[in-house]
This record gives sequence, structure tokens and C-alpha cells, in this order.
Amino acid sequence: MDGSPASRPRHVMDPGTFTSNFNNKPWVSGQRETYLCYKVERLHNDTWVLLNQHRGFLRNQAKNVLRDDYGCHAELCFLGEVPSWQLDPAQTYRVTWFISWSPCFSRGCAGQVRAFLQENTHMKLRIFAARIYDYDFLYQEALRTLRDAGAQVSIMTYEEFKHCWDTFVDHQGRPFQPWDGLDEHSQALSGRLRAILQNQGN
Ligand SMILES: [Zn+2]
Repeated sequence: MDGSPASRPRHVMDPGTFTSNFNNKPWVSGQRETYLCYKVERLHNDTWVLLNQHRGFLRNQAKNVLRDDYGCHAELCFLGEVPSWQLDPAQTYRVTWFISWSPCFSRGCAGQVRAFLQENTHMKLRIFAARIYDYDFLYQEALRTLRDAGAQVSIMTYEEFKHCWDTFVDHQGRPFQPWDGLDEHSQALSGRLRAILQNQGN
């Protein structure tokens, strides 16, 4: 292992990486990568308690066809990490993802997340996406599959962007600076998501 962010979860992200990859402009271009920040909480006496040791971020692993390596989407990289944590199946956990692109359908991510949730009924999943990944023509299927599997699917708002900045970024004490249009884009994307989940998307 080379210890690169592509292959290993790390706790804090470079500020520029965060602001360019989590920008929620719908016409954003050049963000071919998916970043996934995650945190895990355990239910204890009706309260969610953060497990600090299971917090970090992942990036999808690029494919390298020449090396016969088809890469790994960030969601699947995450699912691959979970067994090593040896969570107690008798407890209830809540995983929260803050993900720069919503999961895909065609390449299997949504289906694998569904299978994971079916096998791990002690884990709940909340997904906050910065943008809807509509480069996949079945992206609406992906969002409905995740919802039907019990995941809570939402669009990131100012609150989640700020939380990510405060939690996952090496901000060196600088406060989160929202970019132009953050709220407008977030509201528009939330409206789109709502329509998709009500089967009215187009
Ligand atoms: Zn995917």
C-alpha cells in the first residue's frame, strides 16, 4: 500500500480539494472524482454517540485499464473498509456519508449498498450528496433504490458543507466560506431529488 488518499481513509482533507470537489454548481465540470466523507455513530441510551476512530474520507480509486484494474467507486471503497472495524452486530450504528456525487446505478454501487444494508440490519445509512450524478442514465433508479433500501437520501445544504469543512478539512482555523450560489443550487437540487423520489423526475 502506498498510503495515498485513494487507497486509505484519512482524517483531514486539503481545503482546495474540498472546495473544488464539493462545489454544488450543477454545471460544474472537471470533477471526475468522487469524494466521500463519513462518520459513524453508535446508539447509546437513545443518543447517537460519535465513534471518532471511524471517521474520515475516501476517494474513488481511478481505473487503470492497462493494468487490468477497474478501480473502485468511493461507496464501494467504504463498504470494503467496514469489516475491518469489527462493529458489534448487537448494537445499532448510524453511518453518515457526505458525498460529492450521488451514487451510480449502472456500475452497481446502489445495488451493492442495498445488499450491504440488507446484510447489516444493525447499520443505518444517511447520504448527503453535493450533486446528483446524472451522467449515469439510470441515476434516478440509483436514488430510488437507496431510498427503498432504507437509506435516507438528501442534498447537502449549508449546514452539511460547514459541518464537513469543520470536521474533515485541514482548515487551520479558517471558517467555512460558502461559495456563490450555494443555497440556490442546494435548493434546486433538493427539488429535483424530491421529484425523483416521488417518481416524477425527468
Ligand atoms: Zn458508483
